[in-house]
Amino acid sequence: MDSFAYRDGKLFAEEVAVEVIAQAVGTPVYIYSKATFLDHLKKIQTAYAAIDTTVCYSVKACGNIHILRALAEAGSGFDIVSGGELYRAQQAGADPAKIVFAGVGKTDKEILEALEAGIGYFNIESEAELQNLIKLCKDHGRKTRAALRVNPDIKYDSHRHITTGVKETKFGVDIERAQQIFSEYAGNGVVEMSAIHVHLGSGGKTIDPYVNYVKKVLPLVQALRSAGHTIDTLDLGGGYGADYESDTVPSAADYAAGIVPLLKKANLKLILEPGKSIIANAAILLTRTVFRKTGGQKTFVIVDAGMNDLIRPCLYEAFHFIWPAAVPEKLVPPSRQKELALPGTEKVDVVGPICEGTDFFAKDRLLPPVERGDLIAIFTAGAYGYTMAGNYNARPMCAEVLVDGDKFTTIRRRQTYEDLVAPERDIPAP
Ligand SMILES: *Cc1c(COP(=O)(O)O)cnc(C)c1O
Repeated sequence: MDSFAYRDGKLFAEEVAVEVIAQAVGTPVYIYSKATFLDHLKKIQTAYAAIDTTVCYSVKACGNIHILRALAEAGSGFDIVSGGELYRAQQAGADPAKIVFAGVGKTDKEILEALEAGIGYFNIESEAELQNLIKLCKDHGRKTRAALRVNPDIKYDSHRHITTGVKETKFGVDIERAQQIFSEYAGNGVVEMSAIHVHLGSGGKTIDPYVNYVKKVLPLVQALRSAGHTIDTLDLGGGYGADYESDTVPSAADYAAGIVPLLKKANLKLILEPGKSIIANAAILLTRTVFRKTGGQKTFVIVDAGMNDLIRPCLYEAFHFIWPAAVPEKLVPPSRQKELALPGTEKVDVVGPICEGTDFFAKDRLLPPVERGDLIAIFTAGAYGYTMAGNYNARPMCAEVLVDGDKFTTIRRRQTYEDLVAPERDIPAP
């Protein structure tokens, strides 16, 4: 579910008409619905209630501290991948014990900051990283816990001739190496190795990849336990589906139905690291039409948001449902389907103002007719939207607004031109 809906042909975020926000804050602007992301979190917490589960929302999907604070207050922990994300989580009042730290290139500085903070787990991606973490703990008199990230996709067979650890992939280690790493390092005395971590980049449209992951990892857990190691936790990572298109992904309850029984039987605690399934459809990017232009066979709708504000269509050819924020009643979209062909629509490209051919949001998309000045909503923009935004073309980063019922708050102000040059100011000319 999300809380963006049309009333009398006007788009609302919860109880607020988005055009009111555009008037007050300007465009482009990310508009988040608090009820939506809290509902997603709650559904995950409820779905997994039968086992000891910690939801660690993935900060890299969307890291505004006001959003993190709302999630923390609702019981969420955080999955971080950098010292900057740790800082954001701390600013939001996160419980450090519910922070897990992933990433293949953690620097000593970042590791020490996380040890100082007392985070819950380091998700270990390589043997070298584990050695370094143990060393830093010993040097600085700290103790912590680690989850070893394994790649269940790598089969024993295809790797049986490998006798050294050099052939590890960038993310995690293969299962065979995992056993060796435990036997070599588990007795290190400072880093408790009690968890296994797996992360599927993107889950797709069924729960099967997750269930298969668990099924591939459970024999490793059994083998490690037989060898005397105490493995009590499985971190299943993120990548759960989000509603970019209506009704195409499993619900939290669907995932849980497949996963919970397996973990219950194995007596494992669970950590989940959902990012986009919590925040993706909790935001729209609202943008204003600058021009409408016809060239050759094509009609272009040129808007005031660009690829610097939302890069997913350009970077991944990602689909985002797009629709004007005000339409006649007969053009209110009944769903957010890819091919939504309503009578009275026309085929257009929705593009940004940036000097790059890749600066587009949609190509050959059927939209109700729009004119200069019309507001357009780019849906499901909450995940990897603002966090991937930048200043290309010296465009100030846009504002973020949080809607809560009939109230809205600017949770990040629009950058000014002065913000663009501030880090360059007051430096004597070289
Ligand atoms: C990116 C990432 C996530 C979140 O992924 P989503 O697709 O946003 O759910 C979780 N865990 C790790 C280790 C990640 O790198």
